[in-house]
Formats: sequence, C-alpha cells, structure tokens
Amino acid sequence: MKVIGLLGGMSWESSAEYYRLVNERVRTVLGGFRSAHTVLYSVDFAAIEAMQAGGRWDDAGAELNRAAKALEAAGADFVVLCTNTMHKVAEQLEDGLGIPLLHLGDATAAAVKAAGIRRVGLLGTGFTMEQPFYRDRLAAHGLDVLVPGAGDRDLVHRVIYDELVLGVVEPESREAYRGVIARLVDAGAEGVVYGCTEIELLVGPEDSPVPTFPTTRLHADAAVAYALGTTSLPLPPT
Ligand code: GLU
Repeated sequence: MKVIGLLGGMSWESSAEYYRLVNERVRTVLGGFRSAHTVLYSVDFAAIEAMQAGGRWDDAGAELNRAAKALEAAGADFVVLCTNTMHKVAEQLEDGLGIPLLHLGDATAAAVKAAGIRRVGLLGTGFTMEQPFYRDRLAAHGLDVLVPGAGDRDLVHRVIYDELVLGVVEPESREAYRGVIARLVDAGAEGVVYGCTEIELLVGPEDSPVPTFPTTRLHADAAVAYALGTTSLPLPPT
C-alpha cells in the first residue's frame, strides 16, 4: 500500500473527514484491521486565510511547497491537498517535488464523466467559483461548468468562511444552499459539484434534485484506489 500524504488544515474540519474517509475506505476494501497508511501535515489555517485575503498567493504556494516536501521527507508516496481552493497554487506546490500530486479537479472530473454528466453546477469558495484555475481544469476535461449568480456566490462563500471552517453547521444555511442548488438546476445543471471540502458537512445528496459530487469523498476514494494500486492517478486534461 502506498503512503497517502494528506496536506490539510484548510480547514482541519475537512481534514478530519479525509482522515476518517481514507481509513473507512481501506477497511471496506481490505477488511479486518486494515487501515490507511498516511502522513498528515496540517497547516495553521489563519496564516493561509490571511494570504488568500491579501492576494499573497505566491507566499501561500511557497508554504504549501514546503509542506509537500515535508510530506515527501516523511515517507509519503503522493500528496493529497485537502482543499479545492488551494489548488490555485498546485503548480507551485509541485515545484521540485519528487512525488506526484493527486489533483482534486482531475478526480472530480473523472467522477462526473463516469456518471455520464457534462453540465455541472459548481459550489465552492469565491476563489474557486470565480477564478479560472478550477473551472478551467474541469472545462479542460470537457465539462460545462455553471456557477451561481453573484448574490448566491456571496452566500455560499460566507457560509464556508463564517461557519463551516469553524465547525458551525446551521440548518438555515442548509436551507439557503438548497435554494442555490435549485437555481443551478433551473439554469441547466445536470449535477452539482460540492467543490469545497467543508460543504459535505452541511449538505448531502438529499439536498439536491440532481446527482452530487462531494469532492472530499471523491478525493479520499481516489487516494485509496491509487494507494492500493487499483487505479493509476486520475489523468490531467489533455
Ligand atoms: N476547504 C475549502 C476548499 O475546499 C476552503 C478553505 C480554503 O480556503 O482552503 O476550497
């Protein structure tokens, strides 16, 4: 079994889910006392959030590059970056790294395509919904990506940063997300990507009339499949 390098802390609320999910998945597949072989490097999210808010993405990339190299030095065979948003600096993270990054956008696109869906709604942080780095990665796999309107994007972003990364799960916010999802479906979405690793703490498949793609679970499952040698790394877009 390959050693999974979890690069987390963004936020730790979702990293805890990754840790649980990879272990549950290995037990389901292999049975008995089997569990995932992992190394976890968890950052202080306050520092990363300040870099995001200040547009200091190069500093954030350098920090994650150091963290990824620490995972490599600790014996990880590949890196799982436990946040959609910070894939904005994926290239910098990989600079000089001797092990591969299992890109969350590629794992997500593979799952959407396997479900026979082409047009997806995307929920995530403002960075993920509005900037090209994630949408374009999905689009390069042949997907048509819809994002909510401006008011709904503000709402989705605010709930992530004011509530979910702090471990706060409010029924009113779940209801509000259901409304955003319904409007994406009205706009033509055939599936919805929960493109922020905390969103699964708030909503599930039951909150959407169309299939959902929970990125934390998809990423964890892809990590285990690769670790067990069942699959190769999800392919980057060509
Ligand atoms: N975990 C989140 C994501 O998947 C948001 C927190 C962050 O900015 O990393 O995008």
